[in-house]
Amino acid sequence: QFNNLVFHCHETTAAAVDTSDPQCQKFEYQAEVSRLMDLIVHSLYSNKEVFLRELISNASDALDKLRFLSVTEPELSKEAVDLDIRIQTDKDNGIITITDTGIGMTSQELVDCLGTIAQSGTAKFLKAIKDSKEAGADSNLIGQFGVGFYSAFLVSDKVVVSTKSPKSDKQYVWEGEANASSYTIREEMDPEKLIPRGTRLTLYLKRDDKAFAHPERIQNLVKNYSQFVSFPIYTWQEKG
Ligand code: ADP
Ligand code: MG
Repeated sequence: QFNNLVFHCHETTAAAVDTSDPQCQKFEYQAEVSRLMDLIVHSLYSNKEVFLRELISNASDALDKLRFLSVTEPELSKEAVDLDIRIQTDKDNGIITITDTGIGMTSQELVDCLGTIAQSGTAKFLKAIKDSKEAGADSNLIGQFGVGFYSAFLVSDKVVVSTKSPKSDKQYVWEGEANASSYTIREEMDPEKLIPRGTRLTLYLKRDDKAFAHPERIQNLVKNYSQFVSFPIYTWQEKG
């Protein structure tokens, strides 16, 4: 049952291309990821709401992983925080944040997991796209195979992932934009953004997709998906 929880990311081939600023390193996406991002950003796929299911499922996987690995490595859960998922909406600014207290990622894992094609569903998607000669095939295939983490770019101009692995003393920030061939990784320096453990995703929604930051919209979507998630999901909205 736990086989699919222990996930091994691909080894990275990504090279840092900008080392001038030691605080912030720039990385090129693996070619397949660039291609995937391009397809996602330019697709006419209308069922964009699947992004929430994908991101909740990643949060849930990260919590499962923490719980499972803690059996043999109890020090991984030395931070006494509840295992849960929190979704915050800021409808005035069109921002959604999704925070989990799961296993998080080290800086190396950020490169390996969010810069290369990891997921088998995503790999299948790319193969199916390659095999298909039909125009607009990507729209059907996105729904069929899922595009994992990158589905955040169905609705976002910019995605920021701030993450703290219990295996690292430091918290790192991955930042990527739609239509860019590279992403950056830096250490989290803002004391207000430090988390004890886990991952916080911040989605800066596209102009036409800002309605997803309405709390009722998120609550409805969560209701549809949360029945399969074994951790509590809290939603709330920014005051304003
Ligand atoms: P999959 O979930 O099928 O592996 P994704 O594209 O959804 O593919 O995610 C890629 C990888 O990024 C995951 O396998 C995981 O290692 C990492 N990841 C994504 N979201 C999180 C998260 N919230 N916490 C920890 N790791 C994450
Ligand atoms: Mg996933």
